[in-house]
Amino acid sequence: MLKKNIKDLTLEELEKIVAVLGEPAYRAKQIFSWLYQKGAASFEQMSTISQTLRNKLEKKYVIGTVELSAQLRSSDGTEKFLFKLADGTFIESVLIFAQERKTVCLSTQVGCKFACSFCASGRRGFVRNLLPGEITNQILFLQHKLKHKITNYVFMGMGEPLDNFNNLSKAIMIMDAKEGMNIGSRRITVSTCGIIPGIEKLKKLNPQINLSVSLHAADDQLRDTLVPINRRYRLKELISSCANFAGKLTLEYVLIKDKNDALQQADQLAKIAKRLGAKVNLIPLSRVTGLDLEPTPGEETGIFLKRLLKQGVQATLRESKGRDISAACGQLAGKLK
Ligand code: SAH
Repeated sequence: MLKKNIKDLTLEELEKIVAVLGEPAYRAKQIFSWLYQKGAASFEQMSTISQTLRNKLEKKYVIGTVELSAQLRSSDGTEKFLFKLADGTFIESVLIFAQERKTVCLSTQVGCKFACSFCASGRRGFVRNLLPGEITNQILFLQHKLKHKITNYVFMGMGEPLDNFNNLSKAIMIMDAKEGMNIGSRRITVSTCGIIPGIEKLKKLNPQINLSVSLHAADDQLRDTLVPINRRYRLKELISSCANFAGKLTLEYVLIKDKNDALQQADQLAKIAKRLGAKVNLIPLSRVTGLDLEPTPGEETGIFLKRLLKQGVQATLRESKGRDISAACGQLAGKLK
């Protein structure tokens, strides 16, 4: 029988399993703390757990890890990690340094189904969902193996997090658990291209989490071409789904020359942002090989930003980091060069 990764289990699931093995529920909390706080790599290390229980766990489970295949460092300090998964597929995680912040950008799928016209992740299609343990292992590797003190967690790597809701929600529960990673929800951001049923589920799962919506266009006609899932989940419904989001809401808007950077489009964007009380994050387009799109020049970018600010919108221009190592927004493709 193929052994399962114990890190795919939430605390609640592990408590049930431990009970079936004839042990008190608090053992699950101890195991959790070994896995997520001490970064245990074997059941043998779990010295507060009886040998009998360790043996029973060993028979059914492995402590899965990710394997580092390559690590690149950008001239701006951003680091990209290429991880190999148990089935030989690859994912990427990015570590971004800014002032006191150390943000990790996490992948949730191998590839992506949504094929936004300017993004590298969707170009090679969809391979599979990541399991909860594969999501959290990206963090564990950086924390325990490389001793990074991470302050912020963003699901903005490869894949569409809300298209893998089940596993994402388990990973978030493990991140959130006091005996697990003990990360406050306010330090976690989920980014989506606009999967409305997923937004609805996220609201119920954790009302404190931050949400980023990759808007990129403020009218349906244009958004249909840039973010094709808009044909299924229209702007009006997307906006109403976001309207009562309790956590912090950000609208992402990548500026593409002559596509979505006219001032009239800034005005439409401002209207949506004000209606939602959302912050706007402008992102300079990162170059993706084979795509015939140009970033909006710096001067026009500044004018677009000012137009938003003048209307009372809280807007910032995101410095897209890690370009020289293809670690910037939309450049992750999960391959060995
Ligand atoms: N699927 C999720 C998570 C990916 S997040 C989402 O769409 O939100 C990655 C962010 O980078 C998204 O806002 C995405 O739209 C943006 N992005 C994609 N390609 C880009 C590019 N070439 N330049 C700049 N940003 C890009």
